[in-house]
Amino acid sequence: MSGLAGITARVEALLATLPATVSVVAAAKTRTADEINAALAGGPLIIGQNYLQDAIATRDQVPRSAPWHFIGHLQRRKVRAVVELVDMIETVDSLRLAEEIDKRCADLGKVMPVLLEVNSGREPQKSGILPEQAESLLREIAPLPHVRVEGLMTMGPFTGDPEAARPYYRTTCQLAHHLDSLGLPGVRMHRLSMGMTNSYEVAIEEGATLIRIGTMLFGERTP
Ligand SMILES: *Cc1c(COP(=O)(O)O)cnc(C)c1O
Repeated sequence: MSGLAGITARVEALLATLPATVSVVAAAKTRTADEINAALAGGPLIIGQNYLQDAIATRDQVPRSAPWHFIGHLQRRKVRAVVELVDMIETVDSLRLAEEIDKRCADLGKVMPVLLEVNSGREPQKSGILPEQAESLLREIAPLPHVRVEGLMTMGPFTGDPEAARPYYRTTCQLAHHLDSLGLPGVRMHRLSMGMTNSYEVAIEEGATLIRIGTMLFGERTP
């Protein structure tokens, strides 16, 4: 099936296979509001956006009932606009960024749930903190009143072989358990965002509660 009906059918089919503990973040970069709405017609989804401009272009044409997550690299100068549009930021990787989110959410009188992005594969070109930096960053961010850390997000190295991602997902899950065991006030590390189209099944086996799926739902991206 192709076109918008195909998107709806693929969402239905995916949701039917998932355990109740797992939610799908539909990675909607470059997709139109029609494509996003076709996905939502297939069942409950979270909408994931990488770019502020994509979020702005589609937000008003999509029903407010679906939560939106920011899943791209976030620049501090974009934070003010992003915090108005999304319900979670999955890609916090510095205290400076967290402080900016805290400040802008204070202005709006809201608390932003966030995930810390971990560069589990230690890839120089990728954003995210190294696993051993997570505890100190969490201790710095936890006291911010308008930011609430709820877990970790990771991309992991992309090799095309889903099994190759397993060790990175496993160590990210172990790290989340360790951070949760610290018992920091206001922190519960119960969300784990990992796994994409080619690797989500492995990610779920390793504890993912959020899987970020683009290609499998929307088709290949046309540049
Ligand atoms: C695009 C994207 C995904 C989804 O990747 P697919 O392979 O298309 O499923 C997941 N996470 C992030 C951060 C992305 O940018």
